[in-house]
Amino acid sequence: MKDTHKHQGLRNQLVKTLVSKGINDKNVLEAISKIPRHLFMDSSFADFAYQDKAFPIAAEQTISQPYTVAFQTELLEIKKGDKILEIGTGSGYQTAVLIELGAKVYSIERQQELFKKTKLFLPKIGYKAKKLIFGDGYIGLKEEAPFDGIIVTAGAPFLPKALLGQLKVGGKLVIPIGDDVQVMTLFVRTSEKDFKKHELGDFRFVPMLKEKN
Ligand code: SAH
Repeated sequence: MKDTHKHQGLRNQLVKTLVSKGINDKNVLEAISKIPRHLFMDSSFADFAYQDKAFPIAAEQTISQPYTVAFQTELLEIKKGDKILEIGTGSGYQTAVLIELGAKVYSIERQQELFKKTKLFLPKIGYKAKKLIFGDGYIGLKEEAPFDGIIVTAGAPFLPKALLGQLKVGGKLVIPIGDDVQVMTLFVRTSEKDFKKHELGDFRFVPMLKEKN
């Protein structure tokens, strides 16, 4: 598990690519420039870790494209100490970005294989989530709610209603909604009863599934 000057150079290139695609949150770019993405991937793909692409991880899932990670994270506008719920831990890369930004992260994964692997791996490279949970993201995490932000990193066929109710007033839910193609959707809770919805373009994710596996 090595991180070298060569990797740092590739990360700097990746950050430039993200800037050219419209990402401009300095904190998000800095987090991406620090985190050794190659360590989150199978060694067979590690050479491509700093391309702006999604790649397969275990259990037929993918590590999200860096642009997508940056885009979703930017929407959350994280401040140090914010309490964030992530649905779809996967490789843990997005989790690490959130932790790097100073968030207290709770993350749910439904694939046991990935859950176990990432739970061991993240602390090894110095990233401590508040809680990693093997469970179903459709129901959120009532016992730790309310959250400043909730980020869903799998394509949701519909909006899981439980998630909106777990936001603080002022809190944000970032969720890609749709079947084959998903619309990145931001909900801001403006009062106990009201939410503002913004649609922010098309993305492609692996599907958010019911039941654990
Ligand atoms: N953030 C991850 C993205 C992984 S892909 C990364 O960058 O590596 C999406 C993940 O969501 C997969 O690991 C998949 O198993 C998980 N997932 C799918 N449906 C889910 C559900 N209902 N609850 C929690 N996780 C789910």
